[in-house]
Amino acid sequence: MSEAIKRESRRVAVVTGASRGIGRAIAVALAGQGWAVAINYQSNATAAADTLAQVQAAGGTGLLVQADIAGAADRERLLRETLAGFGRLDLLVNNAGMAPRQRVDMLQMSEASYDEVMAVNLKGPFFLTQAAAGIMIKLRAAGTIDNPMIVNIGSMSAYTSSTNRAEYCLSKAGMGMMTALYADRLAEYGINVYEVRPGIVDTDMTGAARSKYDKRIAEGLIPISRWGQPEDVGRAVAAIAAGALPYSTGEVINVDGGIHLQRL
Ligand code: NAP
Repeated sequence: MSEAIKRESRRVAVVTGASRGIGRAIAVALAGQGWAVAINYQSNATAAADTLAQVQAAGGTGLLVQADIAGAADRERLLRETLAGFGRLDLLVNNAGMAPRQRVDMLQMSEASYDEVMAVNLKGPFFLTQAAAGIMIKLRAAGTIDNPMIVNIGSMSAYTSSTNRAEYCLSKAGMGMMTALYADRLAEYGINVYEVRPGIVDTDMTGAARSKYDKRIAEGLIPISRWGQPEDVGRAVAAIAAGALPYSTGEVINVDGGIHLQRL
């Protein structure tokens, strides 16, 4: 990198899919701890601008970067624009994700839906992490950053069968192995990798199934008997990013009200 590039004195995070929902809450929580945040979004520029305003109000610095994480050129540009704006990269949060456009029984699911969901939820994050890790390795060797991290936003769908969105479950199960693989490979470079695994969180993504989840939660589905809020996930990511787990990597932190517990 050119010495002419301005280096942000704050630590710098890229949060993918930060225009809405969980990603926005992560960006704002990091901003509250003084981070500079590259706010990635796919198409919703108005919502992304709202996130930027909230990041600034929380005391952080923000940079908007439109990029489709399913595309190689966009992924490369996301990192390039982040470095051009901030001069460093300390944290990648792989949050952007999508549900299938339609919930379809797996016996009828189309290959097109499988390919789309896997590209956004698994292939995109995998190769974005590969590229970001390469940058972090160089920046750390140069002494520009000291404690780089990667946080993947997985899902309880990694281990929970939903037969009308099998492609989503497969993508999140794959992300669980992605967390393990990168944790293993990057430890020698001082890059810790974590996965935060939400349960049922009140965002646009769960809007289509809201009444179903309202009913199941009222019936006792979740030990901590309420919807998860995006801020619950934001707080968890900010706690990890603050460096509270230096001797842990590949760790999965469930942020799900205890829904993963097996109960009799
Ligand atoms: P959401 O409200 O639907 O927001 C999705 C975000 O991802 C938006 O910012 C969207 O950008 C962005 N995005 C989607 N496709 C993208 C792409 N190809 N490139 C770049 N950005 C893209 O979703 P959410 O509920 O906050 O979910 C966030 C993450 O948490 C996802 O990985 C999801 O699987 C996971 N999760 C959610 C729940 C839940 O209950 N909500 C539970 C477990 C895990 P635009 O605004 O531009 O469209």
